[in-house]
Amino acid sequence: MQIAPNVHLIPGIIANPYLIVDPDGLTLIDTGLPGSEKKILKYIAGIGKSPSDLKRIIITHADGDHVGSVGPLRRASGARVFASRAEAEAMAKGESSRQLKAIGLQKVLFGLLAPLFKAEPANVDEVITDGQTLPVLGGLRVLSTPGHTPDHISLYSPSAGVLFAGDSMKSARDRLDGSSGGNTWDQAQADASVRKQAALGAKVVCVGHGPVVTDAAGKFPRL
Ligand SMILES: [Zn+2]
Repeated sequence: MQIAPNVHLIPGIIANPYLIVDPDGLTLIDTGLPGSEKKILKYIAGIGKSPSDLKRIIITHADGDHVGSVGPLRRASGARVFASRAEAEAMAKGESSRQLKAIGLQKVLFGLLAPLFKAEPANVDEVITDGQTLPVLGGLRVLSTPGHTPDHISLYSPSAGVLFAGDSMKSARDRLDGSSGGNTWDQAQADASVRKQAALGAKVVCVGHGPVVTDAAGKFPRL
């Protein structure tokens, strides 16, 4: 489903993977839960491309619903994998980059869900840092947006006005909300990352969980 020029949301996957189409190939942002590679490769075929057209996979953070299919997709495509340092270190171990702070019944829920989120260890080809611009979608800037996890990144194309926020924000009923609760590593940093992103002037915000938010000005949470 094309959600902005040259930007697709691949539907039916937890968490949302986004596919960017450039003249030199495809870039995937996040890869969904383990086992999502078939749906992603089917979508790529559906827009008339082949697995080898996938040149880059960018990971926002090392949670299993974002890195779950990176190993199989890397093997199928030969794509280079990009992530921040601490998230890359967690991926190499097949772990998340922080402990969940579950309370009460959440502990039971997180325990039940854990096997679904268990990704195979995966190597990152290139560590990316805040301020770096990747040659994707007219220039895709790497933004350090810690809080949900220690080294979470977002990605912003100023020329397209599209922000890929990973799990630094989520959406519901055409509103954005910050990361909070038991899966949030540091609440103060999470709030600061939302404020930083609200100041970018993005027109379209693509989150890991929830629908894409268009005409995004005024739809950021006030923190
Ligand atoms: Zn997620």
